[in-house]
Amino acid sequence: MAATPQKPAAAQKPATATPRRKASRHRGEGQWAAGHFTPLNGNEQFKKDDDGLNVRTRIETIYSKRGFDSIDPNDLRGRMRWWGLYTQRKPGIDGGKTAILEPEELDDEYFMLRVRIDGGALTTRQLRVVGEISQEFARGTADITDRQNVQYHWIRIEDVPEIWNRLEAVGLSTVTACGDTPRVMIGSPVAGIAEDEIIDGTPALEEMKRRVLGNKAYSNLPRKFKTAISGSPVLDVVHEINDVAFVGVHHPEHGPGFDLWVGGGLSTNPKLGVRLGAWVPLEDVPDVYEGVLSIFRDHGYRRLRNRARLKFLVADWGAEKFRQVLEDEYLKRRLTDGPAPAEPVSRWRDHIGVHRQKDGRFYVGFAPRVGRVDGTTLTKIADVAETHGSGRVRTTVEQKMIILDVEEAQVESLVESLEALDLSARPSPFRRGTMACTGIEFCKLAIVETKARGASLIDELERRMPEFDEPITINLNGCPNACARIQVADIGLKGQLVLNDRGEQVEGYQVHLGGALGLEAGFGRKVRGLKVTADELPDYIERVLKRFEAEREDGER
Ligand code: SF4
Repeated sequence: MAATPQKPAAAQKPATATPRRKASRHRGEGQWAAGHFTPLNGNEQFKKDDDGLNVRTRIETIYSKRGFDSIDPNDLRGRMRWWGLYTQRKPGIDGGKTAILEPEELDDEYFMLRVRIDGGALTTRQLRVVGEISQEFARGTADITDRQNVQYHWIRIEDVPEIWNRLEAVGLSTVTACGDTPRVMIGSPVAGIAEDEIIDGTPALEEMKRRVLGNKAYSNLPRKFKTAISGSPVLDVVHEINDVAFVGVHHPEHGPGFDLWVGGGLSTNPKLGVRLGAWVPLEDVPDVYEGVLSIFRDHGYRRLRNRARLKFLVADWGAEKFRQVLEDEYLKRRLTDGPAPAEPVSRWRDHIGVHRQKDGRFYVGFAPRVGRVDGTTLTKIADVAETHGSGRVRTTVEQKMIILDVEEAQVESLVESLEALDLSARPSPFRRGTMACTGIEFCKLAIVETKARGASLIDELERRMPEFDEPITINLNGCPNACARIQVADIGLKGQLVLNDRGEQVEGYQVHLGGALGLEAGFGRKVRGLKVTADELPDYIERVLKRFEAEREDGER
């Protein structure tokens, strides 16, 4: 399957500048580009009225004591995100009502709570606490997200302070896990250990966290800001779709460092990030990161929510002007020109399976179904990781997990222990390559079911096509947003209501085919009129894959 014609992302050159206006006229013009008389939209208003970070005190002192009904609406649907909290969807409301009902009619009295796992890095002690919280406060729920986070559901506001206490006691946090903020920083889950690593970005990631998390200089951004850093030749952090990304490269004169990308993002107006053509040494990454973040804060668009991501500013300015503003106004020095990353060394970028570390031990990546685990399973994974490894665990951007530091003699025992938990280190391509967003079970924007359907789809395809062994990505979204990256999947499924044979409106999907990251990055083709009902999904995918197997040419994906 071929991606929609697009320049391979890894080979993109900095675009020619197309300056529309002088960026430095006055800092902050992006905020009120139409003039200072333009009324603020609702989100900008509540952010101006009170910093989102301040809601924590109200949660601790008022809302958790007086209950859900005491929560100020601007906190409930706005600032609580600054601490990782979203109200979840009231059970039993079908997808047809999503766009019709008022937000308060969709709101349940329970919350989704997102725990940020920067770099996907967890100790078994932390993982055990995450699992225990799930069991005690979240009815056992715990999903691994496609940005390395863990998400709980069924959280009561009364329990939030205690959950924070327990997380923070082991060095975890929910700060700016959601909201118009610097979100979790994705990092290579095998940073510092992979045998083939170009450079370990961990010190830079730690410094970026130190500078930014909970810092009110960066807690009122135009919208969310996504970060990725990896020195792995697998290119394992979906750098093409982050607001800022640092990708490991060898500079012919200066050695290992990072290639700088800005302005990627999916959602309803997807754009791949662009290279600025700059090589950044490890020690300069935090400064450059802060510079890009500050440009977004100062110049990013704030009038319209659907034009506020950094990708729109980058598209308007072009790479050349963006780099110039970064150098002249924020870094006060020139960046070094550098090479583009090489093509990823593997079609799979998830680290599933058994791999040798640079210290001679092994890491073992394994696959739950569509990121769905639970508190009990997480605590058992912690047990298994402690028995077989050194106590280090990782989450990946494919909703998968990795146990590090396993002696060779322990590998098979670990693989078997994981299998006993229904976690496969040697999964089928379907289990390995299928992702699903939260969907209608808990998400207020959803139109259709995703998680359970994704899991049953995996089982069905494994039964129907046991011999299929090609890398394949099948991503399910519950609505037109892009939480499961449908635009860059081989088969992207965008949830919507469709008509069945009898003309009845039922859950189904708009199909996007041939999207990819890495080798031939580009967005899948929305096949006009190609919609499948949820019931038809296994038949449809089986047909596509069998036809692909029968008709593909040599080397065709
Ligand atoms: Fe919710 Fe839509 Fe995101 Fe899925 S893609 S989690 S349904 S907003």
